[in-house]
This record gives sequence, structure tokens and C-alpha cells, in this order.
Amino acid sequence: MKNRRIFLQKAGLSALALNLTPLNPLWALNEENIMNVAEDKPLRVAIMGLGSYGTRVANAMKDCKRAKLVGVISGTPSKIEAWQKEYGIPAKNCYNYETYHQIKDNPDIDAVYVITPNGLHKEHAIGVANAGKHVICEKPMAVNAKEGKEMVDACHAARVKLLVGYRMHFEAKTQEVIKMRMNGDFGKVLFFQGLSGFVIGDPTQWRLNYELSGGGAMMDIGIYSINGARYMIGEEPIWVTAQETKNDPVKFKEGVDETIQFQFGFPGGAVASCLSTYSMNNLDKFFLNGTKGFAEMQPSTGYGPIEGRTNKGPLTNPHVTHQTTQMDEMAAIILDGKKPLVPVDGEEGLRDLVIIDAIYKAVKTGEKVGLV
Ligand code: NDP
Repeated sequence: MKNRRIFLQKAGLSALALNLTPLNPLWALNEENIMNVAEDKPLRVAIMGLGSYGTRVANAMKDCKRAKLVGVISGTPSKIEAWQKEYGIPAKNCYNYETYHQIKDNPDIDAVYVITPNGLHKEHAIGVANAGKHVICEKPMAVNAKEGKEMVDACHAARVKLLVGYRMHFEAKTQEVIKMRMNGDFGKVLFFQGLSGFVIGDPTQWRLNYELSGGGAMMDIGIYSINGARYMIGEEPIWVTAQETKNDPVKFKEGVDETIQFQFGFPGGAVASCLSTYSMNNLDKFFLNGTKGFAEMQPSTGYGPIEGRTNKGPLTNPHVTHQTTQMDEMAAIILDGKKPLVPVDGEEGLRDLVIIDAIYKAVKTGEKVGLV
């Protein structure tokens, strides 16, 4: 096996070149060898936007086995210098927002992780795609479904992958509950509750600036309950209703939501009742109930450890830094074509944006908005 693998590596031959199709009896043997070769190669990532979350991702990547931080894109020269020292990044892999299109001529970078404010994701992701690099983009993927669709189309046209930083899709306790639901352990699932909130500080930050945020708490953290409702129930919602409460219209200006309650209906008869807010701390809870059992998680989407229990007892899966697992799994998705338990592709990001658009429409009109 080992010899064959070395032979393939040295010869630089692909399965296609060797005609190793599933109809060929040598397929299984050689597919395994080719996968082993792929496993040796890391996904070489540049981070764009060296802010609070970019720093968290970079630190988590120190423990990655398949993903490696090799480059940066930043508008702040002092950060570039500090990151070069901290992560051993060569000058040839450092860019700013004016020069990053030149990344197309850099064979040492495979993917760019866009971790800039929401309102810039579309421009940055499309710029990266047009430079021929895979895109990993933070949530929310864009500020509305129209922009999200443009990103999906651009990445498709450029033949690069588009993944969204949905770290919870790889979190062990979350996956455990999803597998239990798939296995029928909760019976017919009929109710989900998702609560997402924290008290936002500095009123001058981009999260409270509509141009850069695209909205308020809904865009930032309400998306966890939307996405959670979908992966916990395992269906796509068919309608939404929503109501907004704004106690501080000075801090939360036009278009920037403070608190929204929203409800979904699902084709199988389940309903979801959720709340997103920028005015309550430590609000991070999921609850799922079916005809036979339940799951509750609190905290459910924070950086962890996630805590939870089901009708069968406590969830005991060990905590691993979310972004470490996420980046290793994303490397496998991009390099090996691995299929995740819950998708993290551009279409998945787009579904959440279609729902967010519908929630804002429901707030404005006071009506039930259909989603099909
Ligand atoms: P920060 O404000 O801490 O960082 C954003 C960075 O983007 C800045 O430091 C800056 O980096 C760059 N940037 C480029 N243009 C601008 C601009 N006009 N205004 C402000 N910053 C700019 O934000 P976060 O890191 O908290 O959030 C970034 C993204 O990550 C958001 O989309 C957010 O939703 C997402 N996020 C995801 C989380 C998750 O758990 N998945 C958690 C937290 C955030 P530079 O100086 O290098 O150019």
C-alpha cells in the first residue's frame, strides 16, 4: 500500500489518468491511496480582517492538523507586522484591501477566510473568488439574499468553493443531538426554541452601523437560532412571523434591530419560537422537543464548552476549540470533497439569508410571510 502511494505521489498520477473508475476493480485500493496523499497536504489559508474573531480563528488554527494559516489581508500595517511575528507569515503572503487581488499569482495560498464586517463580505468574497481562491466567509454570509446569491454565483463561475463559518455544524454535542434526532430518539419533533442574545457595548462599533452590519442582533446572533432551528428540526421552514421591540431608538437606529421575536412553521407540523436581542446577557439556549424526548443546550452556540442534556441523560462529548475542528473539517471538505453532517456551503448560507429577509419583511408588515 505504502509503495503504491509513494509511486502515485512520485509519478504525480491521478485516478483519472489511471482510469481508476468505480467500475475498475483497482478503484477501492487506489482511492484509499489517493486519499492518503491528499491527507498529507494542508489547506493553506489567508485570513482577511485581523479583528477580534480573526484573531480567535488564527489562534485556534495553531492546533489544526489539516489547515494552516499562511497569509493575511489587512488594512492595518501594524497588525500585519504583529501577525507575521506571531504566526511566521512570510512577507510575500501579506496583502491589503488594494492589493489582495494579486493573490491569484500566489501558488502558496489555497483559500481566504473573510472575517470582515458583514456589509463587506460580498465584495471581499467575490474579489477572492475572482482571484481563483476558495472562499470561507463568516456569518452572516451577506446582508441579504440578493447579495448572497451573487456570491454563490460568482464562486460557481470561478469554480471555487464557498463555505460559511458555521462552526456549530462541527461541534460534537450539537452533532450528537442531530444524530439522535435523525435516529428517531425524540420521536416526531414538534417544537424548537432558540434564544440568542448579549448586551452590545460601544455604540460607535460597526455592528450598530447599518451600512456595515446590514441589521442588528438578528444579523449577528439571531442567525444562530435560525440556523439552529433548521439543523435541529431537520426541515426547512415554510412560513415566518416576527415582532420587533425597540426600547433604545438612539442606540439602535433605523434598520438596526434591538430585539426580535420570531416564529417558524415547518412542513412536518413542527413550530419554532425564537428571540434575538442586543439587550440581554447570557441568552444562549436551544430546546428541542418531540413526541418521545427532548434535548436542551445552554450554552448552545457560544465558544463553549457547550452544555446540554437529553431525555437519555447529559451530553458528555469532550470540548474541542470550535474553530480548530471547523478549519480541519473545512480543509477536508475543500481538499477531499468530504460531505459534512450539516452543510456549510454557500447555498446553506443563502437559506439563512432568505429567512432573515422574510423575518424583516414580517416585522415591517406584521404579516405571516411564506417561504416557499
Ligand atoms: P472586528 O471589528 O473585531 O474585526 C473586523 C476586522 O475587519 C477589523 O479589525 C478590520 O481588520 C477589518 N475591516 C475591514 N474594513 C473594515 C471596516 N470598514 N470597519 C471595521 N473593520 C474593518 O469584528 P469581528 O471580528 O467581531 O467580526 C468580523 C466578522 O466575523 C463578522 O462578520 C462577524 O459576524 C463574524 N463573527 C463570527 C463569529 C463566529 O462565532 N462565527 C464570532 C464573531 C464574529 P484589519 O484592520 O485587519 O483590516
